[in-house]
Amino acid sequence: MQLENKVAAVTGSSLGIGRAIALAFGREGASVAINYRSHPEEGQEAVQEIEKSGGKAISVQADVSEPEGVRNLIRQTVKEFGRLDVMVNNAGIEQKIPFLETPLEVWEKVISVNLTGVWLGCQEAASQMVSQGDGGRIINVSSVHEDLPMPTNSPYCAAKGGVRMLMRTIAVELAPHGITVNNIAPGAIETPINRNLDEHPEQRQKLLSEIPLGRIGRPEDVASMAVYLASDASSYSTG
Ligand code: NAD
Repeated sequence: MQLENKVAAVTGSSLGIGRAIALAFGREGASVAINYRSHPEEGQEAVQEIEKSGGKAISVQADVSEPEGVRNLIRQTVKEFGRLDVMVNNAGIEQKIPFLETPLEVWEKVISVNLTGVWLGCQEAASQMVSQGDGGRIINVSSVHEDLPMPTNSPYCAAKGGVRMLMRTIAVELAPHGITVNNIAPGAIETPINRNLDEHPEQRQKLLSEIPLGRIGRPEDVASMAVYLASDASSYSTG
């Protein structure tokens, strides 16, 4: 097992990619704090799934765009499991609207979850890890759209681009503390965020034509990368 005796918190982990990461961490021996925003039953299901495979987990409500929510997620994790070794900032939203029609409220909402939420998660987790004094791992789930433009998705692309520079900057600042910071930037992954593809088969076909491997990714494809970045095997990978 690659994550034995490690403690991890994963934001937005009641569904989708976050859930797959939390379950993979549990299978690899980590104790995991699941985070949900508004559906406690989904958080609880993920906890039960980890417990079924012999792991330990708790479920914590938190809106990652709120400082108190993120603080509480870390506080509950440490209260339950004694420490924090791995923080995964995964929660994200998108709302596709042509740029000229995008209201300020949509910009603010997407930035508050996808960029401010990650900044808060990095800062709270790093403070805890620095106080423990023996390093840690921060992993942000970004997107290919940290680099690749996506018309109609300007707040999302701006947030993910911001997460890229946030990661690179704090990787340098936190390196003296033995804390590594990395992003995973997936292409299209089969999760509820892409449910519109079921209603638009022509969009699915176009997307597939742009993917060299010829298939949409699975949440587990991202989870295996997260396991590597959380494990001792990645101790010299940062930024
Ligand atoms: P999803 O919609 O299936 O899951 C997102 C999760 O985040 C949900 O559990 C949701 O409840 C949670 N969440 C949303 N707002 C929150 C908030 N304010 N506080 C706490 N939790 C909140 O999406 P997903 O595809 O699993 O996406 C996970 C991450 O992966 C996101 O950051 C997304 O941008 C990124 N991503 C997804 C894809 C893809 O194609 N699915 C591709 C690249 C990157």
